[in-house]
Amino acid sequence: MASTPTTTEATSRSTGPPAGDEEPVVHILWINAGLSCDGDSVSLTAATQPSIEEIVLGVLPGLPKIAVHWPLIDFECGPVQGADNFVEWFFKADRGELEPFVLVVEGSIPNESIKAEGYWCGFGDDPETGQPITTSEWVDRLAPKATGVIAIGTCATYGGIHAMAGNPTGAMGLPDYLGWDWKSKAGLPIVCVPGCPIQPDNFSETLVYLLHQLAGAAPMIPLDDKLRPTWLFGATVHEGCDRAGYYEQGQFASEYGTPECLVRIGCWGPVVKCNVPKRGWINGVGGCPNVGGICIACTMPGFPDKFMPFMDEPPGAKVSSSASAAYGSVIRRLRSITAHSVDREPKWRHTGRKLATGYKPPW
Ligand code: SF4
Ligand code: SF4
Repeated sequence: MASTPTTTEATSRSTGPPAGDEEPVVHILWINAGLSCDGDSVSLTAATQPSIEEIVLGVLPGLPKIAVHWPLIDFECGPVQGADNFVEWFFKADRGELEPFVLVVEGSIPNESIKAEGYWCGFGDDPETGQPITTSEWVDRLAPKATGVIAIGTCATYGGIHAMAGNPTGAMGLPDYLGWDWKSKAGLPIVCVPGCPIQPDNFSETLVYLLHQLAGAAPMIPLDDKLRPTWLFGATVHEGCDRAGYYEQGQFASEYGTPECLVRIGCWGPVVKCNVPKRGWINGVGGCPNVGGICIACTMPGFPDKFMPFMDEPPGAKVSSSASAAYGSVIRRLRSITAHSVDREPKWRHTGRKLATGYKPPW
C-alpha cells in the first residue's frame, strides 16, 4: 500500500546525503492514545537542548536519519488506507515493513479485559472488523517488533494520575503491562522518562542517546531499577534545589510567595528523584520549588496517591525540618558574624600618601 513520507522525513531526506544512499531511516512511531492528555507531546515542542527540530532535521552529528510519526504535529490525516493516512505507518510496522523503528508510548494503558464490551482507548480501525484497535492491542502488536520502546511521561511509565485509587479503567504503566524485565528484540529494556509532563530536554536528550546507541555510537543506556536514565534521575529535587540553603539554615516558608524552603507547605523534594530545579524548565528558566511551587513528586512511581493531599506538610518533613530549624538558627547566627566581616572591604583600600597593604619591596 502506498504511503507518502511525513513532513519530517521529507525534510530530513532533502538535507541528508544524496539519493542512492543506503543509510536506513529510523522510524519513530508515537502512540499518544494511551490514557493521556498529550501534555508530554506538547512539552517536547519546548525542548532546546536539543530541540526536536534539531533531532529530526539531522543537524546533530552522528545521528541516523529519522522519520517521526507523531500525532501531535503530523500532517497525514487522509482517509483510512489512503496514501496520506497516518495510521498506515503503524500497519506497516505491524506487517514488518518498517525496520528499524522505535515505539514511543504516551499515556497509561487501561485494562481492557475488565469489561464485556467496548474499549477504554485506541486508535485506528481494524479493516477486517471495522472496530477500533485498542491501545493495548497496538502495544501487543508492535512492541515485539520494535528495536526500542520508550514510555514518555509518568502515565506511560508508572500509571500516573489515570491510575489513581478509584479509577474505573485499571490503568497501569507500560512496564506493568509488558513486564518490568521486558526486553526488545535488540535487548533494550523499556526506557522510562517520567514527569507530568516530562521536562522537555529530559526526553529529547534520552531520544538522542537512544539514537546514538542505535547508530552504534553509545553503550547500553544506563537505567536504574525503575528504568529511568540514571544521569537524569539519579539525584533528588532537594539536592538540586536552590532553596536548600534555606532548609539547611532552618528557614521555612509558612505561606506561598516567599523565598524560603517550601517543605512545611507541601514540598516533597527531599525524597523525589527529578532534576527540574537544577535544570529549569525551558532553556534553564522555570522549575518547581526553585521558583516557588511545591514539588508534588510528579516523576515518581507512587504519584499521585502517595503524595496527596499535595498542600499538606509531608509526614517526614516535621522531624527533619525541626532538627534543621534548631541547628539552623545557631548556624545562621555564626554566619551572620562572618557575613558582617566579609561584607566590608579590607582597611588598606583608601586614598592618601601612605601605603597600608603590607607590600614589601623585594629589592
Ligand atoms: S523547597 Fe523543597 S526541594 Fe527546595 S530545599 Fe525546600 S524541601 Fe528541598
Ligand atoms: S520538581 Fe517535583 S513537581 Fe516539579 S517536575 Fe520534578 S517531580 Fe514534578
